[in-house]
Amino acid sequence: MGGFRSIRFRLTVTFLAVILVVMIIISFSLYNLLQRYHLSHFQENLTRTGYLAAEFVAGYLRDIQDPARLSGLAENFSRQARARVLFVDVDGVVVGDSVRIGGLLGEKLDREEVIAALAGQEQVSIQYSKQTRQNVMQVAVPVQESNNPVGAVFLAAGLKEIYQTLTDIQKFLLLTTLVVMIGVGGGCIVLAGRFTGKIELLTSAAAEMAEGNLNLQIAVTSRDEVGRLAEQFNVMARRLNLITRNLKDFAANVSHELRTPLTSLSILVKSMREYSMDLEQQEDFLRDIDQELERLINLVKDLLELTRIEHFRDAPKETFCLVELTEEIVNQITPRFQRQDLRLIAREIPPPPVNIYGSPSQMRLVIHNLLDNALKYTSPGGWVRIAIALEGNEAMIKVEDTGSGIPADDLPHIFERFYRADRARSRSMGGTGLGLAIAAEVVGAHGGRIEVEAGVGKGSAFFVYLPHSGS
Ligand code: ADP
Repeated sequence: MGGFRSIRFRLTVTFLAVILVVMIIISFSLYNLLQRYHLSHFQENLTRTGYLAAEFVAGYLRDIQDPARLSGLAENFSRQARARVLFVDVDGVVVGDSVRIGGLLGEKLDREEVIAALAGQEQVSIQYSKQTRQNVMQVAVPVQESNNPVGAVFLAAGLKEIYQTLTDIQKFLLLTTLVVMIGVGGGCIVLAGRFTGKIELLTSAAAEMAEGNLNLQIAVTSRDEVGRLAEQFNVMARRLNLITRNLKDFAANVSHELRTPLTSLSILVKSMREYSMDLEQQEDFLRDIDQELERLINLVKDLLELTRIEHFRDAPKETFCLVELTEEIVNQITPRFQRQDLRLIAREIPPPPVNIYGSPSQMRLVIHNLLDNALKYTSPGGWVRIAIALEGNEAMIKVEDTGSGIPADDLPHIFERFYRADRARSRSMGGTGLGLAIAAEVVGAHGGRIEVEAGVGKGSAFFVYLPHSGS
C-alpha cells in the first residue's frame, strides 16, 4: 500500500520539493529586491538632506563663529532626516553635532567618508554598530563655496526599521511556504490516494485471478485512464473465463470421445483372451479392433489439426491457386467416390489462377473435409458436385450433394467441435465430429466464412467464401 516506493509517496515528495525550491527562489529574490529598494531609498533621503544642509551651512563653515548655532542647525536637520548630523570644517574637526550631550564637538572626525567628502567626493557606507547593535548607514557630502571645500556634512542613521520590515516579510514568506506545503501535501496525499486506491483494487483483483477466481468484475466508477484500465481488465477477465470454460469443455469432450473406442477395444481384447474362438471369429474380432483403432487414429489426427490451426498466425503463408488445389484433391478422391457408386462432378471451375493468400495445406483440409462429408452422408447412386465462382473480390467454393441432408435444428451447431447431427451414421463412417469445426476455423483464419443450406432428404450445400488476391 504505502511505503517509500509508492506512487502516492513519490508524487507528494516531488510536489513538496518543487514548491520548496520555488518558494526559496521567490523568497530570496524578493528579499534582495526589497532590501535594495529600501536601502537606496533611504540613502537617497540621507544624501538629499546632506546636500540641503551643505547648502545651508556653507556660509557658516567658511567663517565659524558660533558652534552652538551650528549644532542647533544640525539638530534641525537631524529631526528632518531622522539621523545624527555632524558638520566638520576643512580640517575635519566637528563644528556642529546634533547630539549635544556627549557629542563630538571639537573632535577631529577621522573617517574615510569625511576624508572623501573633504576631497569633494560624496561617500556612503554601511557598518554594524556594536553600540546600538544594528546596521548604520553613513553618508558624507562635501560643503563647498565657489567650488572650494569649506567642510563636510556627515549623517548617520540606523537601519533597524528597514531590517525589521524585511524580517517581517521573511517570516510572512516562510509561513506562506509552510501553509502552501501543508495544503499541497494534504491534497496530494488525498488525490494520489484516490488514484492509487483504484490501482490497488486492480492489483488485488489480478492477484485473485492468479489464484483461479476468474468470475471477478471490478466496479468501474470513473471515465479516466484508470477507469478505462479497469474496464479493459473486466473484458480480459470475461474473455479468460470463457477461454478456460471452453478449454474445460474441450477436454471433457476429448475424454468422452476417446473413452468410447477405448472401451470397445478393451472389451474386444478381453473377449479374445477369455473365450476360445475359431479362426473366423478371431478374424471378425481383429477387424473390429482395427476399426476402433482407425477411429482413434482419425480422432488424434483431427485433434492435431485443430491445434495446428490455432497456430495459423505463426504458420508460413503463401499465395496459391485455388483451382489447381481443388483439381488435385478431386483427382485424388475420385476413386473413393467410384467405389461407393457415387459421381463426383467438378464443374463451373474458372481457368487458373484464382489466387488465395494463406496456407495451402490447411485449405486442402477444408475442401477434403467437405468432399469427405458429402461422400459419407450420400447414398450410392447419388452425386456430389464441386464448383468455384468469383464474386467481387471473393472466391466461392460450393460443395453440394444429394445426400441425407441436415435437420434444421442441427444446422446452427454443425460447425461446433464434436457436434454430430446423425450420431450413428457419423460413428459408423469413422467421423469424429471435428471435420466442419476444423473447416470453419481454417476459413475464419483466412478472413473468409462458411455457410450451409440443407434440408432433410433434400441434400446439402456448403459454401466457402475466401478473399482472393487476383487471378
Ligand atoms: P463428422 O466427423 O461427424 O462428419 P463433421 O464436423 O464433419 O463431423 O460434421 C458434423 C455433422 O454435420 C456430421 O456429424 C453430420 O451429421 C452433419 N453433416 C456434415 N456434412 C454433411 C453432409 N454433407 N450431409 C449431411 N450431413 C452432414
